[in-house]
Amino acid sequence: MLEIHKIPVHTPYPIGPVNSYLINNRPYTLVDPGPDTEEAKVSLTKRLTSLGVVLSDISRVVLTHYHTDHSGLARWLSGITGAHVYVHKYEVRKLTFDYDFFQERLPFLREAGLPTEVLREILEDIDPVEKPVLPQTGLEILHGGEVLEFEGGSLLTLHLPGHSDGHICLYDEASKNFLAGDFILKHITPNPNMEPDPSDFNKRLPTLSQYLNGLEFLENVGARLILPGHGENIDNSRDAVSRAKKHHRERLAVVTSILEGNSLSVYQVMRVLFPHATGFQIYLGISEAFAHLDCLLAGGNVTKKEIGGVSFFRKAS
Ligand SMILES: [Zn+2]
Ligand SMILES: [Zn+2]
Repeated sequence: MLEIHKIPVHTPYPIGPVNSYLINNRPYTLVDPGPDTEEAKVSLTKRLTSLGVVLSDISRVVLTHYHTDHSGLARWLSGITGAHVYVHKYEVRKLTFDYDFFQERLPFLREAGLPTEVLREILEDIDPVEKPVLPQTGLEILHGGEVLEFEGGSLLTLHLPGHSDGHICLYDEASKNFLAGDFILKHITPNPNMEPDPSDFNKRLPTLSQYLNGLEFLENVGARLILPGHGENIDNSRDAVSRAKKHHRERLAVVTSILEGNSLSVYQVMRVLFPHATGFQIYLGISEAFAHLDCLLAGGNVTKKEIGGVSFFRKAS
């Protein structure tokens, strides 16, 4: 049996701590070590010590996705322990020194009809934590479907995109424990983050459709306990899946009603959904609005017209 310990690690973000998980079986493995901050290093090391594990015991680090709060400490850990870092192939480019998150998404922000001063407001909302970067050696690329073997058990990697295109979950088929990363959380719904298609950077991935497909998959997995990347465990996966589905169904209905008799840009839709958003929250709001509009467009529920490089959406008649 695998012995899995939850380790809440400090982050400077409004979401609060990130949950790192220690698999206390050889080879000792840490899932999502946390952000690269001194506070995170202290909370992680302290808890590992109380579990009788020293850092040098860690030989594998698995990243569920590239976000700073989950992945930042992978490089530091690998540097001091020699641990190999396991990450999905789509996340690798986003964890390099040269990666420019906004540059890659600028065409979409232009298409959204974002006023210049609002774009500036987003860009000036600087992340307090340095951008995470992968170590140069000891990288293990995941595609989903790999089995990570341990003394006493194994974890199956599952590629479940939607929150990030290279998002990985881990499933212990023996105990039916499901390590979810940010795929599903107890009290909030993860943002279907705007992502360019890795095979054509001018196109957006259908992140909400990908996410809804992932929820269908999770519903059929029959997980007993979900161990999420933030907050409390989820002991009823079917309820959690139906709550997440309901949330998106309702938001799709709200977006459709906003477009009843109106032709609006993504920015205008975002302002109706999140009137008080500031700084980076505006970016997240645009991402949320785009995900739902792209999904409605694919389903024939809305139409899209481009004027001067900006897309305007309207409810289909
Ligand atoms: Zn995330
Ligand atoms: Zn997170």
